[in-house]
Amino acid sequence: MSLRVGCPRCAAPVAETEAGWVCVEHGVIEPLWRPAEVTYEAFADHLRRSASMPTYLPWPLSPGWSVSDFAAVGADPERARATMTCTSGPSALDGPVDVIAIAEEAGTGLGARVAGTVHGDPGPDIGDGPPSVRVRIERQVVPLWPISTSAACDEWDRSVVVGEAAGRWLWLVLRPASAMLLLRDDWILRDASQSGPHLVELPFGGPAPAW
Ligand SMILES: [Zn+2]
Repeated sequence: MSLRVGCPRCAAPVAETEAGWVCVEHGVIEPLWRPAEVTYEAFADHLRRSASMPTYLPWPLSPGWSVSDFAAVGADPERARATMTCTSGPSALDGPVDVIAIAEEAGTGLGARVAGTVHGDPGPDIGDGPPSVRVRIERQVVPLWPISTSAACDEWDRSVVVGEAAGRWLWLVLRPASAMLLLRDDWILRDASQSGPHLVELPFGGPAPAW
C-alpha cells in the first residue's frame, strides 16, 4: 500500500482497533490516507480510496507545475469524507506558489487543519458580503469567501477562501498569501476522479508544504 494512515485533525499517531481507527488525541476517527511518496501509483491508490468524493485539481496545470501532495479521509471508499490536493509551481510575481484544494463533508476537520484556522468548519465569514472570487467546476460557478486566519496560532503566510460545492465545503489555501491575486474568476477546478487516463500526463512530486 502506497498510502499511510493518520488522523485528519492532527499529527498524533493512530492505531486500528476493534472500534475502528483511533487517534490518541481525538479518539475514534475516520482515517486520513497520505502518500508515502507522491507518485502516479500512489495517486491511483488515492482515487480508489476516495471513490465517492471528487478530488479537485486546478486545470490545466501551467508548465513547471506539479501535483506535490494529496490526501483522503474515510475508512470506506464509498463513504469518503474529504480529499485534498496540493499543486506547486513557479509564478512570475510570487515565486514558488502552493495551491491546496480540499473538498470535505462538514465536521471532518481536514480543511481547518491544512488552512490553520481556529474553527473546524468555516464560520460566519461565509456568505457575508460579496465573494472574493469565483471558480468553475465543470459548468458550476462556485463563489468563495475569504476566511480570517489572523486569530489562528501557528501563523504562516497564506490566504484561505471557502465556499460550497455539491453540498460539501470547498477550501482553497494559497501560499504565499499574495498568490491570492493569481485566482481569477475563470479559474477551473477539475475532478481528477473523473478525468481518466490523461492523469498519466500529470507531473507528480516536488516540494510540498508541511501541514
Ligand atoms: Zn488526532
